[in-house]
Amino acid sequence: MERIKVLVSGAYGRMGREVVKAVCTQNDMELVGATDKEGVGKDACRAVGLEESGVIISPDLPETLAETKPQVMVDFTTPLAVMENIRHAAEAGAAGVIGTTGLTQENLEEIARLAAKAGKAFLAAPNFAIGAILMMRFAGEAAKFFPEAEIIELHHDKKIDAPSGTAIKTAEIVNTGRAQQPPAKPVPLEKIKGARGGDLSGVHIHSVRLPGLVAHQEVIFGGMGQTLMIRHDSLDRSSFMPGVLLGIRKVTKEQGLFTGLESFLR
Ligand code: NAP
Repeated sequence: MERIKVLVSGAYGRMGREVVKAVCTQNDMELVGATDKEGVGKDACRAVGLEESGVIISPDLPETLAETKPQVMVDFTTPLAVMENIRHAAEAGAAGVIGTTGLTQENLEEIARLAAKAGKAFLAAPNFAIGAILMMRFAGEAAKFFPEAEIIELHHDKKIDAPSGTAIKTAEIVNTGRAQQPPAKPVPLEKIKGARGGDLSGVHIHSVRLPGLVAHQEVIFGGMGQTLMIRHDSLDRSSFMPGVLLGIRKVTKEQGLFTGLESFLR
């Protein structure tokens, strides 16, 4: 069986290491490249407690792409680095599974153009946990009956973007799913600026950043005399791996930009 050649960008980060571990233990995948600013010179698989692979972490993505010719680049880096990485991958003819969050609408439009030009597929998903996709789907359903909703997203304290990509996407889904617009909720006396969180289409989003957390979200709906809460918890980064592996397998067979793992979970 021909194995899918995968390069992991951000291979020494918290998510990247988990991806390396997952890819290296699949029969139908082969880790051919690993890049990061950290861990340079280390064996990527050895760094995650697996047997040595000979894949050495490099700081140079264009060079690694040229040398290893991956079919898929998986990127879990930072919002500041990801677009440059995607440009390099498309140029090298690789498809992409993009987990890095913080992409703007403009970024997504550029990725769509790059994918079309290269004839490859890019999947950009703010959350690869299947439970989180279901949380968003259920929130869209609830919004038909409960137009008033707020989101509390909770993440580890090293996350650099706020609110999370998942919270933004959930707010958009709630807004689209509403049968009617919620009443305006002015705050006549805001004693601390930002106390009501950020407002996206009438959905207030509150971002919590604390050590000990991984990735969690509550969507709270309020109606007359009742509330409904939908909560998802990623207790460990392994929760994202079935989604990432599904993405790797699917992008090799598709073309164009796909946003959200739900594109492949019909
Ligand atoms: P992290 O531990 O900081 O890992 C990112 C790694 O990428 C770091 O080692 C970083 O090095 C490195 N890096 C930075 N710029 C780079 C570049 N140009 N080329 C190669 N590597 C580079 O962060 P994380 O917790 O793994 O999260 C990574 C991203 O994934 C974040 O955007 C996060 O929000 C997202 N995320 C997505 C999901 C999902 O399901 N889609 C789930 C969890 C996290 P330095 O530390 O030196 O910058």
